[in-house]
This record gives sequence, C-alpha cells and structure tokens, in this order.
Amino acid sequence: MPHPLPARRPKDARPARSLRKAGELAEAGLIAPSEEAGARAVAARYAVAVPPALADAIMEDATGALARQFVPRAEELVIAREELQDPIGDDAHAPVKGIVHRYADRVLLKPLHACAVYCRFCFRREQVGPAGDALDADELDAALRYIETHKEIWEVILSGGDPLLLSARRLKDIMSRIAAIDHVGVIRIHTRMPVADPARITRALVRALKCTKAVYVVLHCNHEAELTADAKAACARLIDAGLPMLAQTVLLKGVNDDAATMERLLRALTAGRIKPYYLHHPDLARGTGHFRLPLEQGRALMESLRGRLSGIAQPTYVLDIPGGHGKVPVGPGYLRPGAAAGEWLVTDPQGAEHPYPPKA
Ligand code: SF4
Repeated sequence: MPHPLPARRPKDARPARSLRKAGELAEAGLIAPSEEAGARAVAARYAVAVPPALADAIMEDATGALARQFVPRAEELVIAREELQDPIGDDAHAPVKGIVHRYADRVLLKPLHACAVYCRFCFRREQVGPAGDALDADELDAALRYIETHKEIWEVILSGGDPLLLSARRLKDIMSRIAAIDHVGVIRIHTRMPVADPARITRALVRALKCTKAVYVVLHCNHEAELTADAKAACARLIDAGLPMLAQTVLLKGVNDDAATMERLLRALTAGRIKPYYLHHPDLARGTGHFRLPLEQGRALMESLRGRLSGIAQPTYVLDIPGGHGKVPVGPGYLRPGAAAGEWLVTDPQGAEHPYPPKA
C-alpha cells in the first residue's frame, strides 16, 4: 500500500532536532492523526529517528517514497513466519564483540549500533537504536586485536549502526589504528549520513577518514529524492577530498520497485560520482513484509535496465542467504549451455538468444 503523502508545511517550520516519537512526527505533519496510534506502538518496539533535514525532504517528496522508508507505520507489527531476528546470520560469524567475520579476507567492525535515521526495513533493526550497544575502550581494543592477529584480513568495513555518527576525534583514532595494521589494504565505511544528516559531513569528519590506506565510502541510498542539494554537497565534500564513493541500494516495494524510478536513482548517483555497487534484495527482517517483493520481480527489473542504462550505472543484484551463508548475485543470467560441449547460448539486452561461439 502506498504511503499516504504528508501534508505540506512551511519550510521555516523545520523541527529543531530529530523526531523520535509518534507525537512529534504528527506535530511535524509527517503522519496523519489517524496513524499516530500505530506509529506509537511501532516506536515502542523499534527505534525511530528522523533528523530535521530529512523531515524537510520527506515533506518535499511528492512520491511518498521517503515517508515510506523512514516514518513508522502499523504494518511493522505484522511478523511473518519466515522472518528472523538476525536475518543475515551475523551472530554465527561474530568471534568477538563488534566483529563479523563471514568471508576470509574481510571483516565488519561495528563500533556502535546507533544511526541518525532508523530505516523502517533495516536488517539490523533488532540491534540498532539510540541505546544500541557501542564498543567500550576494552572491547574496541579486543576487536582491533582480532584484526591484527588474523593476517588474512585485507579489508575492514566500518558498519553498525552508522559509523559516521562517531565524533571526528573518535573516527580518526579508529581509522589510524586500523591503518597501522600492515595486512589491511582497504577500509570501507558504510553510511547513510550524507542523506540522513548532511551537515554532519564536516571538513573535520572528512579529514578524520583520510589515512594511509585506501578508503571507500559506501552510501546507502534508495531513491533519487534522498539526493537533496545538501546531500549531494555532503557527498562532494567526501569525493573532492579523495574518498571514492559507491552506493548500495535496497530494492523496496513502494519505494523503488519500478524500472523508471530505479533508473533515475542510478543515473543521479552516477552523475554525482557515486558508483552504484549493490542492489540488495530485501532481507527477512521482522515486520518488513510490506517492503518485500518476489525475486522474479527484481530480476525482471534488472533485465529491463540492461541495455538502457550504461554499464557504469549498473549495480549487482544480490541476496544475502538467510542463516549467514553469504551474499551472492541472483541474476538475471544471460548464459546457458548449448546442445554440444563448449557451446553456449547468450541472451542479448533485447532478449534474443545467440550461439557462442557463433556458428561458422
Ligand atoms: S542506517 Fe543502516 S543500520 Fe541504520 S537503520 Fe538504516 S539500514 Fe539500519
């Protein structure tokens, strides 16, 4: 069901701080009075926060795609049988607190579980929140020691929660300690901050991310309307400082599940010097069934983008296999075996099949 559009309110009525309660969302015009009770019940179960700049963007967004992503609704209390507390199986790969080591050459380091905004479909919604577990000094030492003693780790992914919620001073400390580990070649930062609260991407914070190792910033962004002028300027501050940016997008029913909407997002990201990286099939997080769609629909959407959208703007469509079995591309496929050994049939962007190698 589409999210009802919020009532217009004057721009100068921007809230002074993040909206965290159903009453505050109603007062700001982000939910109708009839939805307040449902939103209150959701807020008692899952974290809610909408920073002021995002509240403005939601009000400006005539599609309702932003409200749907960030404003709590009663549907979140409907739990389907297949939904899981830990949908991608982080717990099965957590050797020490704050570390997820699922693939040999890389780890997630989660210094905190708080975010500037709480996405209503979040795969870690059972862990994140303002009181979300943050690593204390000893726990951070232990997590870094784990990375140090596992020589196979080449990439460290700062995730959470949103690591850019940390102060510039704490980030700089963590970045320099990771960079000091010889076998680490790449540090990746997963964040929603440029979209959620662009003003937090200050010059000091950008400087804190720079270190002696290659650093990539991966923006979570699902709809073109998230890329406000302020959000684009925040990304430009990162990129201009020499930090390459990628984007990950979650395929969400009622937000970006048609080809035209997805194409606009992918073009806007690429034009903003942000390379689309992954398109995630939504995870089986509890209370998120209203966002999920069949895999076939995602594959058909990707197929329709092939040929009409440049290769540099194409993400890889992936599924995190429930139970912690890892992330894999889920198509569409363009190749199937032919009748004879060594023969293949390749599908072109228009859907016609061609033998490969071509028949003589
Ligand atoms: S920013 Fe990321 S971790 Fe935080 S609520 Fe959104 S999806 Fe979850």
